[in-house]
Formats: sequence, C-alpha cells, structure tokens
Amino acid sequence: MIPYGRQSISPEDIDAVTRVLRSDFLTQGPEVPAFEAALAAVCEVPYAVAMNSATSALHVACLALNVGHGDLVWTVPNTFAASANCARLCGAEVDFVDIDPDSWNMSPAELARKFVLAESAGRLPKVIIPVHFGGLSCDMASIHRIAKNYGVRIIEDASHAIGAVYDGGPVGSCQYSDICVFSFHPVKIVTCAEGGAALTRQADLNARMQRLRTHGIVRDQGLMDRTSEGPWFYQQIELGLNYRLTDLQAALGLSQLARLDAFVTQRHQIAERYSYELKGLPLQLPLVEYAGRSALHLYVVLLKGNWASQRARVFSQLRESGIGVNVHYIPVHYHPYYEALGFRRGQFPVSEDYYSRALSLPMYPDLSHEEQAKVIAQMHAILAE
Ligand SMILES: *Cc1c(COP(=O)(O)O)cnc(C)c1O
Repeated sequence: MIPYGRQSISPEDIDAVTRVLRSDFLTQGPEVPAFEAALAAVCEVPYAVAMNSATSALHVACLALNVGHGDLVWTVPNTFAASANCARLCGAEVDFVDIDPDSWNMSPAELARKFVLAESAGRLPKVIIPVHFGGLSCDMASIHRIAKNYGVRIIEDASHAIGAVYDGGPVGSCQYSDICVFSFHPVKIVTCAEGGAALTRQADLNARMQRLRTHGIVRDQGLMDRTSEGPWFYQQIELGLNYRLTDLQAALGLSQLARLDAFVTQRHQIAERYSYELKGLPLQLPLVEYAGRSALHLYVVLLKGNWASQRARVFSQLRESGIGVNVHYIPVHYHPYYEALGFRRGQFPVSEDYYSRALSLPMYPDLSHEEQAKVIAQMHAILAE
C-alpha cells in the first residue's frame, strides 16, 4: 500500500541517533538545546521550546497564556482534535470558527462575524488557535488584526507547516501570533519520531513554557522565594508536566532539519505534477501558494459535481488498488466527546461540506515517480466512468 504520508530517513539521520546512543546522555544532554537553536534560526524567532509532541506543546502554550476554567478558546473544526483538546485539558470551553471554502483555513470573515456576536453576548475567547491546514498559512495578517481589536491572544497550530513561507518570512516567526506550535510526528514535514515545539518572541512566555514542560521547577534564584540552600537546590513554583523531548529524538530532528528545504521542494514537485495531471477531472485542487508557499504536508482534493456524493466509493476503489488515501479531517465537533458538550451537525457547514468530499492523496518526499503515476492513473480510471 502506498501510504498518504511517511518519513524520509537518511544514513545521516541514523548516524545522528546512534551517536547519541553511544554518548553520555539519552535525554537532557546537548542535542535538545542544539535542536531548539536550529529551529529558532530556521524560523527567525528568538525562542523555541522542544517538547515530546505538538499535543504537549499546545497544552503548554495554553497554560502559558493562563487558559483555565471559565475561559473560552476558538479553533477550527477542520483539524486534528488536539487543536481543541488543549483548551479542554486546561478546563476551558471550546468553540469553532468555520473555514474558508478555497484555502480550507480559518475564515477571517467568519472570525470577524463571530467576534461581533461574542462581544455582544459578553463571551469573548481568551485565545484563538488558527491551524495552517495542509501546510498552507492562514491569512494571519487579517486574523491578527481582528483578534488584536478584542485583546485576544493567538496560538498558531503549525503542525503541518514547518518550512512554509508567509508574507516574506518563515511560518514560526510569530510575527502575527504569541506562540507557534510544530509537530514532528513521522507523517509531518520533519520528524523526531514523536516530538513538537512551541516558538515565541516573548521572553516571559519562553521561560514559562520551559518550566511547564518540566514539572514547574526552576533553578533560577530570581524566581525562588528563598535563598538557595546549596548547589543541589531547586524549587517547584507551579504545577507542571514532564513533556521533555529526549536527546535521541532531538538528534533525529536536528539531522532532519538540515533537509527541510529539500523536503518542501520535493513536496512542491509532487504537487505540481498532481495539479497538472488531475486538472481535467471533477476535482477542486488545493492552493499551494498563498502570500508565500505551503509546506505541503497534505495534498487534498475535493470531489465536485455528481462526484460529491461518491467519496466513500472513490476512497474504497483507491484503497483496493493499493493507494493509501486518507481523509483529513473529520470535523472535530462530530466526535462523540464534542457532541456530548453540545455541538451539533450543521453548525459549521463549510467544514462539514469540505469533509464530505475530501481525499488526501499520497504526498511525501520519497514518493517515487512510478508510485505517483499509479495514483494519477487510478484517479483518471475511477473518475472517467
Ligand atoms: C499532528 C497534529 C497535531 C498533534 O501532533 P502530535 O505531535 O502528534 O501531538 C496537532 N494539530 C494538528 C493540526 C496536527 O496535524
């Protein structure tokens, strides 16, 4: 089966990990700070805090912005559940902003409309979490302008989007947000096996996220409430977690990061061929450029016209021919956990219509020319009927 996404591992990656296995530190050695420095450099941002997943990074980002009971957080339905779960883990309520039908990202028009209603209802969110779906940046300039009018903080869920460019700078620079989160799961652009990071320009948020990822413990005298009792001394000053990345994972991430541009370029070559070869079919094709370039984590097509109701059949036919298509995403509010919180079908019609017609085609740097030809041929065979 040709998967929809998978990692690309080089001999250098294997060497980097085995070097750590032979070294003194499997965790909390030199690799994590080196990986963080490299991430910060790539993203042109002062601070990067590596963690053991994007889910952890989203949780810590919400905690660092003091999201808690009684607060409200908005994200989009068209995302992985972790973008919403992070708020629930902090005890906050979640609501959703529908997506734009062309970019499949948070719609600034919907956001503006929802803010007007929320303000008159006296129930503004504390934080909004736009998601750079498929690796394409949201319209962050508009989202930032709207949110700042209401004093609302922004976490970018850029799990799909390391290597993307927006408005002349890298996604991750936090030009239009407080915190930006990446995922390093194997299907994402670069991998640590499991891993994530939270980036920020704000020194106070960096310090807070550093201590939340390791139990809320500090060793800095300035943060303690009493004089150090000796070189062993530390204090836990708030409730934190163990969300640390290991040196093994960081070494893999650091080695992968050296190929970030090559990975994104290969993804664009694959996308260009899909877009050229599929353009005559009854499909809406993805935007791969918007005020910059997508990182192209996903290549999603939407079935159009009479085909719109045939997604299940097309999906099965592709799977039967050895093509591991997938669907991103089941709207978050469709999950029983969120239905039990009161969400209903029909509330976010653009995300719901999108979901009913979406197919993610295989997209990863090592997808061979022949494998891609097979995907294209099958799409033509199925949709020619
Ligand atoms: C993958 C993903 C996450 C979670 O990432 P993990 O590193 O697996 O925790 C969160 N949000 C989005 C949009 C994702 O695609």
